[in-house]
Amino acid sequence: MEKQSFSEAVAQRLIEQIQQGTAPWQRRSEPGGYPLPFNPTSGTRYKGINLLVLMAQERADQRWMTYKQAQANGYQVRRGEKATQIQYWKFAVERQRKDAAGRPVLDENGRPQVDIVKLEKPQVFLAYVFNAEQIEGIPSQVKKPIAWDPIEEAERILQLAKARITHDAPDYPFYRPSTDSIHLPDRGRFPSSANYYATALHELGHWTGHETRLKRDLSHPYGSEGYAREELRAEIASLIVGAELGTGYDPAQHAAYAASWAKILRDDSLEIFRAAADAEKYRNIFMGSNSKPIFRMPSRSMIALWTAGPKRVNSLSEATQLWWPRATTP
Ligand SMILES: [Zn+2]
Repeated sequence: MEKQSFSEAVAQRLIEQIQQGTAPWQRRSEPGGYPLPFNPTSGTRYKGINLLVLMAQERADQRWMTYKQAQANGYQVRRGEKATQIQYWKFAVERQRKDAAGRPVLDENGRPQVDIVKLEKPQVFLAYVFNAEQIEGIPSQVKKPIAWDPIEEAERILQLAKARITHDAPDYPFYRPSTDSIHLPDRGRFPSSANYYATALHELGHWTGHETRLKRDLSHPYGSEGYAREELRAEIASLIVGAELGTGYDPAQHAAYAASWAKILRDDSLEIFRAAADAEKYRNIFMGSNSKPIFRMPSRSMIALWTAGPKRVNSLSEATQLWWPRATTP
């Protein structure tokens, strides 16, 4: 019941924004550092549907936190401010391993061993967060310039993906599943390098759906509802990647999809949840997925680590700091 009303409220708000052309993935953002909603007290970015829920609030400040987190940092949520509800799904729990006598089993370092147990029924947790604009005493947001060249990093991602890209598209870019190839107009026809890479990465989003990768059905004809669903996923993924890399995001001529998107969400409010979750998967395919502080930087060294396989990266928190210094009391 609770779950249903949450998804319907989310879909309702997004449908209204789609119709006005202001849904999160319909808004343009400039290259060079466009932050996504994140929690400065935990250093994590909000993901999936929570990302869209918070972006749909159209706040200028991208910092969000719970009432308790604000208090713990010496800030105060202003009287009468309304919280925004988000939700987390738990699919597994950690359980301490016990021996026959019921004593915890220890590893070689003397720490209790923990098993990850998959839950039969996923649990949902609701959280209520406030935007920094609703909080008294929080220092203003410090936006440091990004510490890498977005163009270089975007190029690196294309190279690492080893996607086949040719510059033979006469007017508009496209990905062709049958040949698993991306076709772009000549570089010179793009207004800027950032725009060129944003476009290439959007097409790389479609590329993730190939049968050798995430296996999505990409056979829907242009203009169909299936096509609009795929486009929705690619757009949300482009938005995330463009923000994280700093190449920016340009929704271009996608007004054509608005009617389909509104219909898709009206028919099934959960579809936006699936689309947002899928978009995170696209993003993970080329940005790496095993990060804890999600604001992971696709720096040269980290991409090297990521391609070398899952590994603990100690410099992640440093990278997070580089980009979003933790809020400190003045
Ligand atoms: Zn597309």
